[in-house]
Parts: sequence; structure tokens; C-alpha cells
Amino acid sequence: MQPWQNPRLDEIRDETRAWAEQTFPGGSRRDLDDVFEWTRTREACGKAIGAHQQVSSRVANMAIRQRLSRMAIYDMAARLGDGGAIQSRLQSAAVTKLSVSEKYTPFMMDPMQNFGVRGILYDWDIQQDLRDSIPATIYVGTSETMRNTIAKLEGVPVQ
Ligand SMILES: Cc1cc2nc3c(=O)[nH]c(=O)nc-3n(C[C@H](O)[C@H](O)[C@H](O)COP(=O)(O)OP(=O)(O)OC[C@H]3O[C@@H](n4cnc5c(N)ncnc54)[C@H](O)[C@@H]3O)c2cc1C
Repeated sequence: MQPWQNPRLDEIRDETRAWAEQTFPGGSRRDLDDVFEWTRTREACGKAIGAHQQVSSRVANMAIRQRLSRMAIYDMAARLGDGGAIQSRLQSAAVTKLSVSEKYTPFMMDPMQNFGVRGILYDWDIQQDLRDSIPATIYVGTSETMRNTIAKLEGVPVQ
């Protein structure tokens, strides 16, 4: 057997996939708190920028994406906590990884816009979090691979 044919390697890969986005809830909560504070305290045209509905709408978008992704991750964690072989949870792992990772960059674009130029300056955190979000659709299985897995487990003869 070649090293890459070892079934334990498949298992490790699948478990990693299930946990791939586990840091999202904490990091995104911090970004959400930062943007709440910023939109309350930063003033433009004589009022807090959060008073402008185009700014507050972006905060609402962030809160929605954060809540949905966190729910998906906690749901995956509960499934893993129930025990049993990871193979029976492959589709859930792929759905969770795909949906959280594809929401990550749209989630980070909203604070970047609300922070204005500070959203892209190196000495502010937002640009770092935005850049960190971008490869989420690549590592631990690309979005294309996740879609292949999901379709295959539905019985579609994907090559
Ligand atoms: C931040 C980051 C951290 C990483 N950390 C690690 C790590 O710790 N360990 C590790 O081993 N690797 C790591 N990687 C590598 C990562 O696993 C690979 O980048 C990923 O598997 C894609 O491989 P590739 O870059 O060679 O792209 P390619 O395989 O060249 O693919 C290029 C594009 O073609 C698509 N594609 C390829 N084949 C198909 C197909 N059959 N159907 C549809 N689309 C297809 C891919 O989805 C992708 O969009 C990391 C990558 C990043 C970005």
C-alpha cells in the first residue's frame, strides 16, 4: 500500500475538514464587536456613522452572516460530539466547511467598508482579518472539492 492510500489519512483529512472553520465564531465575534463600537463612535456629517442606514445595513449583514455560520459550526460540533465514524458525517462536514468559508470574505467586506481607509491600513486589524478570510475557500479542500463531495454523496456520478 502506498502512503497516500492509507485509510487513516482519509479519516484525518475528513476530521480536519469538519473542524476547518472552528476559529470563525470567535474571530468574527471580535470583528462584529469592533464594528459596533466604531459605528457608534466615529462621526461623519455631524452624527455617528451608524445613524446612516447604509452603514447600519452592513452591520446587520455582518450579524446575520456571523449568526448563521456560528449555528452551522455548532451543529457540526454537536454531530461530532454524538460519536461514531467520521465517514457518516462527511456530507455535513463538507456542507459546513463550504458554507462558512464562502460567507467569510463577504462577511469581512462589510467592516472593511465601514472602517473606510482604516479598513485597509496595515496598523488596523480589519485588513488582516479580511486577508485571512480569502483563502478559506482553498485550504482543507477547495470549494470545488466540497461541491464534488456533496454531489457524490447524493449519488451523482461526479468524477
Ligand atoms: C492558507 C493556506 C493554508 C494551507 N495549509 C496547508 C496545510 O497545512 N497542509 C497542506 O497539505 N496543504 C495546505 N494548503 C494547500 C491547499 O490544501 C491547496 O492549496 C488546495 O488543496 C488546492 O490545491 P492547489 O493549490 O494545488 O490547487 P490545484 O489543485 O491546482 O487546483 C486549482 C483549482 O482547480 C480546481 N480543481 C482542481 N481539481 C478539480 C476537480 N477535479 N474538479 C473541480 N475543480 C478542480 C481547484 O478546486 C482549484 O480551484 C494550504 C493552502 C492555503 C491557501
